[in-house]
Amino acid sequence: MVIIPNHQPEIQTISPDWYQGKVTEVAMLRLDTVHPEVSGNKWYKLKHNIDYCLRQGIDRVLTFGGAYSNHLVATAAAAQLAGLKSIGIVRGTYAQEQITPTLQACVVHSMELHFVSIEDYKLKDDPETLKHLSERYSNTFIIPEGGANEQGRAGAGEIAALIPERFTHVAVSVGTGTTLIGLANHLPTKTIISGYAPMKGGSYLNAEVAKYIDDNKKASVHIYDTWHFGGFGKHNDELISFMNDFYNSQAIPLDVVYTAKMMYGLREQLLGGIYSTDARILCIHTGGLQGNTSLGSKLVY
Ligand SMILES: *Cc1c(COP(=O)(O)O)cnc(C)c1O
Repeated sequence: MVIIPNHQPEIQTISPDWYQGKVTEVAMLRLDTVHPEVSGNKWYKLKHNIDYCLRQGIDRVLTFGGAYSNHLVATAAAAQLAGLKSIGIVRGTYAQEQITPTLQACVVHSMELHFVSIEDYKLKDDPETLKHLSERYSNTFIIPEGGANEQGRAGAGEIAALIPERFTHVAVSVGTGTTLIGLANHLPTKTIISGYAPMKGGSYLNAEVAKYIDDNKKASVHIYDTWHFGGFGKHNDELISFMNDFYNSQAIPLDVVYTAKMMYGLREQLLGGIYSTDARILCIHTGGLQGNTSLGSKLVY
């Protein structure tokens, strides 16, 4: 079943002024335009999970996320579109007292929310916990946090088909690394893939993603964790003005958690001259714009 019809998301040119003409081309694949809530990479990671449920006659999905999780709201919306029920296990009981716009959106899409302590949340991948959850919720498919399963990686791989061959480099934000893994396994071996982790110490993900990347592709992937701006979900005024400038000059809205940090890092690399002049770089806009709601009026868009 096709919930969100396949369409060719636009590849938008970034003007050479932005990168001082240091390379031949920089462009952005606008996956953020796929759907307002099941946006960006989330739809690709969820589509085979949803399909699996529909084919197996499973009528409910259960997944995990924090109070600002794009994955949680995307799952709630996609499940509702597919006629499935959904349960969200939310990190931190304090989130219950201050319901975020993200969690509100989950509720609007009929997701049943369960708040657990940060300690209990850490057990989200523990086999005993998962067994207990399957016993408690019958006929329910459990999707790991961030859609990081086989179906998620396969769906993310479909993004590779949207990338024209002329691009020598692909830039993508990294959370669980599922999207990067899918891309790496489906792009030509010669394409260089840079991942940008928005959390402190995110370079540990290099080893994590390597477990799932085909041997002949491993060498073309690297994850940078330089541009975390203090940690996951953190930002400063400089990042906000970078986002506003990017919107004013390119008419592309970035999200504060992932894509803003990626583009900031990429620009620093570009101006630092680390790419050869014949490079053509495609940045993936992985969506997540719903998360900007918490910034209020700081953004011009
Ligand atoms: C979820 C998300 C990511 C991270 O994707 P992974 O596949 O978990 O690495 C990147 N960018 C945005 C905007 C996201 O919402």
